[in-house]
Amino acid sequence: MIRNVGTCRIETVQGDITLEKTDAIGNAANSMLAGGGGVDGAIHRAGGPAIMAECRRIGGCPTGGCVVTTAGRLKAKRVLHMVGPIWNGGENDEAELLAFCYRSALDLAVEHGLRSVAFPSVSTGIYGFPVRPAAMIALRTIAAFLRERSAPELVRMVLFDPGTRKAYDEGLAELLPDIAADA
Ligand code: ADP
Repeated sequence: MIRNVGTCRIETVQGDITLEKTDAIGNAANSMLAGGGGVDGAIHRAGGPAIMAECRRIGGCPTGGCVVTTAGRLKAKRVLHMVGPIWNGGENDEAELLAFCYRSALDLAVEHGLRSVAFPSVSTGIYGFPVRPAAMIALRTIAAFLRERSAPELVRMVLFDPGTRKAYDEGLAELLPDIAADA
């Protein structure tokens, strides 16, 4: 699904984020930047040891934050390591922290001149954040940022499984109804 926000674009696709050719890809990292399972493991495996070497030098990142590293052997130029919250019932600032990590990643992308960014569905795997609310938070935060800053040009949500893709498609259709489709 594609939606325009001013001169920028939000896309949802199903796929493997390690194959993306966008300027940057997001990683669902942990606060130690220590690598792990899920998309984090896949990015380090595909990108090679240069990414972990830089993560070690940086040392860590608080929940809700983001740090940028090289993308090693990946086609993307940079990895945005986003530290999403661990779901703990929903009354421990999970929503705000999830929004912060997308906003931090977009701030860094603009600061580093990265014009296209691919994001995974942060926190909805091992960290247990329910996917529908996570999708709305991600999409709302991204759309607000694009409206305000008119950059990056492209934000592509790269969803690994059909259920997650469906949640983001439904969220995007609700958030930004396609006026042409209704005509
Ligand atoms: P978290 O610990 O933040 O929950 P996970 O990596 O466990 O992070 O999961 C986040 C999302 O990333 C899940 O929807 C998972 O299915 C997805 N995912 C796993 N591997 C990939 C990949 N190669 N590309 C894109 N998304 C992936």
